[in-house]
Amino acid sequence: MTNNHVEIWNKCLSVIKDNVTEQGYKTWFERIIPLSLVDNTLTIQVPTYFFVEYLEEHYIDLLKMVIKRFVGEKGKLDYKVVVDSSNSAGTVTVPSANRNFPKNPIGQPAPQRLSDGPINPFVIPGLKKLQIDSQLNENYTFDNFIEGECNRLARSAGLRVAKDPGKSAFNPLVIYSGTGLGKTHLCHAIGLETKRLHPDKTVLYVQAEQLSTQYVTANKNNNRPDFINFYQMIDVLIVDDIQFLSGKAGTQDVFFHIFNHLQQNNKQIIITSDKFPSDLQGMEDRLLSRFKWGLTADLQSPDLPTRTSIIREKLHDNGISFPDEVVEYIAGNVRNNIRELEGVMNSLMAQSLLNKKAVTIEMTQQIIDRFVRNTVKEVSVEYIINSVCDYFKISPEQMALNTRKHQVVQARQIAMYLSKKYSNASLASIGQQCGKKDHATVHHACKTIADRLETDKQFKAMFADIEKKIAMQA
Ligand code: ADP
Ligand code: MG
Repeated sequence: MTNNHVEIWNKCLSVIKDNVTEQGYKTWFERIIPLSLVDNTLTIQVPTYFFVEYLEEHYIDLLKMVIKRFVGEKGKLDYKVVVDSSNSAGTVTVPSANRNFPKNPIGQPAPQRLSDGPINPFVIPGLKKLQIDSQLNENYTFDNFIEGECNRLARSAGLRVAKDPGKSAFNPLVIYSGTGLGKTHLCHAIGLETKRLHPDKTVLYVQAEQLSTQYVTANKNNNRPDFINFYQMIDVLIVDDIQFLSGKAGTQDVFFHIFNHLQQNNKQIIITSDKFPSDLQGMEDRLLSRFKWGLTADLQSPDLPTRTSIIREKLHDNGISFPDEVVEYIAGNVRNNIRELEGVMNSLMAQSLLNKKAVTIEMTQQIIDRFVRNTVKEVSVEYIINSVCDYFKISPEQMALNTRKHQVVQARQIAMYLSKKYSNASLASIGQQCGKKDHATVHHACKTIADRLETDKQFKAMFADIEKKIAMQA
């Protein structure tokens, strides 16, 4: 067996040539450079990962056969990808041995088709033009994104961006809102509309979490340049739930570079966040300041007409009808979150179909109670303090006073107890807000109130009165 890798590769090529089309040979084999033959492993250089994927997908049997024949029974093939990096000088070499897939000693099972693998995970091989899976959900369109006061600005900005991606002043477009108010839906709609209007554009939807996971893997495998290259090739990049990058310095850093490159090249960036950008903790300032370059548009809680339209649309889509008073009841009672609204609707529609019974207000009430009221949401400590003070007819300043007056102490303890139950604030922060007390005082207060609730019927009734107002807010 000779050690001459060039000679061996030429022998392989002569067989390959007879077994593939002329076009296939030109496209996929002529650009391969044989690099070495060490320990029965023939290493070849290819220009992109896409090449590797394509070769693996279409020519694996043929490659296996020629390697066995000319390298030997134990022959293996390894790839070295030399990526041409257009925005940096020279080339970047990524040793294939560090790749997650296919390290490809021939004869091992073919790599899994990637869904969130490390590199160019969205690439669909076998097509002439490099195409990616945009990861867009066809169900989230502009057509079924009901327009209302609460979303008008964000929606029209989205339409504008889809019409002229990268060209409007809305770059990046940052969409922010609390959960369940339509961020994900809207950004998919923008992506779909962009593709419809500009089929030639490469659109990619990615969750920030996915971006981060991919980055960590790429980094581990020394594939950072490839990771960046891939994202820099996108025309319209949609990153959902950017708050997930909080505290993830590495991903933020890499995203910063991608962001700059895309923006400099008039590519469109769309970002969603569950907080107003400047309220994002653990996010680099230089990234936050980039977000301000474009437009930040929020989605607010849906107003009554929008809620009613969403309900009617949903019924219409499903060919179901509810009595008007039921529609009104739902719209009047599920106010803060469209996801919850949909949950209630789905449940009611299922029940009405299953039981073949008309939907009644009672039934609706039960479902709403189950769906909405039980999910305790966060209420601010400030709101709780104000409600408690309201009840006892004292001011928050009085409540904060360092006094042993029974009424004040009681109000403070109740406020602490309710804050622990309904807010996400820490004991320390609750204490701070309730008269600069420490966390041990809050702990003690909670215990005192819990004891009194068990033993004092009158207190319990009074407490229930106060709690009602706060629970309604939650
Ligand atoms: P977020 O990403 O803000 O948490 P989603 O986009 O997931 O919220 O929206 C939650 C649900 O509400 C989805 O099923 C979505 O289709 C629906 N939804 C949100 N806004 C609208 C709207 N304006 N019209 C119709 N459905 C909506
Ligand atoms: Mg979402």
